[in-house]
Amino acid sequence: TLPKLPVFEAIAKHDPESTAVIHATSGRRFTYGQLLKDVAVARDQLRQSAAGQSLDGQRVAFLVENSYEYVVTWLSILGSNSIAVPLSSSFPASELRYILDNSDALMLLSSDKFQSKADEVLKEGLEKKPISSTIDKKLEADRSSGTIQLEESPDDQSGLMLYTSGTTSRPKGVVLPGSVLTAQSQSLQQAWNYTSRDHLLHVLPLHHIHGTINALLTPLFAGSIIEFLFPFNVQAIWERLAAPFQADETKKKPTITFLTVVPTIYNRLLSSHPGLDEPLKHATKEALLPQNLRLNISGSAALPTPTKTAWTELSGGNVLLERYGMTEVGMALSCGLDFADRVDGSVGWPLPSVEARLVDTETGQSIPEGSELTPSGQEREGEIQLRGPTVFKEYWRNPKATAEEFAEGEDGKGKWFKTGDVATRKVVEGAGKSAREWARGPMYFIRGRKSVDIIKTGGEKVSALEIERELLSLPQISEAAVLGLASEQWGQKVAAVVVLAPEQAQTGRGGKTWGVMDMRRALKERLAGYKIPQELRVLEGGIPKNAMGKVNKKTLIKEIFG
Ligand code: ATP
Ligand code: MG
Repeated sequence: TLPKLPVFEAIAKHDPESTAVIHATSGRRFTYGQLLKDVAVARDQLRQSAAGQSLDGQRVAFLVENSYEYVVTWLSILGSNSIAVPLSSSFPASELRYILDNSDALMLLSSDKFQSKADEVLKEGLEKKPISSTIDKKLEADRSSGTIQLEESPDDQSGLMLYTSGTTSRPKGVVLPGSVLTAQSQSLQQAWNYTSRDHLLHVLPLHHIHGTINALLTPLFAGSIIEFLFPFNVQAIWERLAAPFQADETKKKPTITFLTVVPTIYNRLLSSHPGLDEPLKHATKEALLPQNLRLNISGSAALPTPTKTAWTELSGGNVLLERYGMTEVGMALSCGLDFADRVDGSVGWPLPSVEARLVDTETGQSIPEGSELTPSGQEREGEIQLRGPTVFKEYWRNPKATAEEFAEGEDGKGKWFKTGDVATRKVVEGAGKSAREWARGPMYFIRGRKSVDIIKTGGEKVSALEIERELLSLPQISEAAVLGLASEQWGQKVAAVVVLAPEQAQTGRGGKTWGVMDMRRALKERLAGYKIPQELRVLEGGIPKNAMGKVNKKTLIKEIFG
């Protein structure tokens, strides 16, 4: 038996013979019927390992590679009425110890592959040592032949605890109870139409909301196929996408219909594409056609318009769908399924069941729909605030942060979560005309994080994201981060850190390396004078980013400007 959690109910309804998970490299394949049975076995093993201690509401951390075993482990923790805390092997031991201590984990589960990492973490420096256990891959032997019964469980304490990326501060544990996970998945399923005919290629880390909810839990709810390609490898992604369209029969595999990744991955795919040999090049183009790759989604960081444009060209007209979300709320805003609803620079509309508002950063007042412009015609900026069943419960054992991040709702209908992200809103001509209820009215345009991307210079407010967009549209620049530096004269001044496109580096004045004067000249026609960066630093190699393609601007300022 297993508890009657909505995700188990959904899995139990899928055709038991249909494929749930595939390992891209080995070709190993697991069905939905098998999955539920293996979860039940793994749950029993987990209880045994707990040696008599109750698992109810306890945190169970786990270190497992992207695989079927990961899915089984995660679901077995939910099935144990406990809170799953996924860890990443890419974290240094000190970071893993921080999470184990901070989450007060009762157990640490690890796979064979990561057992030595787990041992290293457990060796020293922990406040309280969790019970450690390796996951058992010999599930088949114990798998029962009957069907799994789902039983009503009166006191559901299961859930997921994810740590934020730590882009703006030390990672915080975000508690997502089971009901929130379900609400997030249902909202996405409705908006993006996941079905049992979808075959999703999974290449993301699983300790973030994007890889977990969008690319794993929601497809499980919908009965889609999840194919793990692990470890991450750009060439292997191309080969997998192209496989169904190869002339060679022996290389054929089912078509990937669904890809959801971060902008840096699209960039890496684009820049590695010409390196492929000719027949594969043809096959990849076919793979990206809208009728084959039904949905290509980008999120977790701003999607540069040149990336979006280049993908459209490469794929013969398939347009990337951008959405906005975060650990605390899952996905909140999204462009629509119709191409006309995938507007450049916009993250779309509030998803089903998500209620969103913009709160004027100057006045603290909510900006009502229809008053997006000031009387003088300027766009009004506001902080995005959200509420509804998809919003997290609390920061783990951090009532102060929790209290600070919620605002009272004047209408008595509950509190709003303050995202810390600033946006504008506007009605876009031609968009929002589909039959989809939720994709209506003004669209949101992200201006950036209040804490680092909204730069106040000489009394003007400038969005780092807007300037980055302009920089990236110059052929000389392949990566850009815009920063606000402290300045006595201006309060803050705008600075840019860029990486030059290799073949374009010598296109500065008089054949010299492209530099600050060239940048200023190029941006003159595009941006108001006060928005043009006063300083430019050129980096070799790349701008440091985390696993989700995010730049930590506070660290970058320290590293580059001291
Ligand atoms: P921390 O909260 O610890 O500083 P983090 O906010 O980076 O870390 P996440 O929850 O992973 O951790 O990231 C959410 C943030 O990512 C959002 O608040 C937003 O700033 C950014 N983001 C997500 N999607 C987009 C998008 N499409 N465009 C611009 N920014 C985005
Ligand atoms: Mg955050």
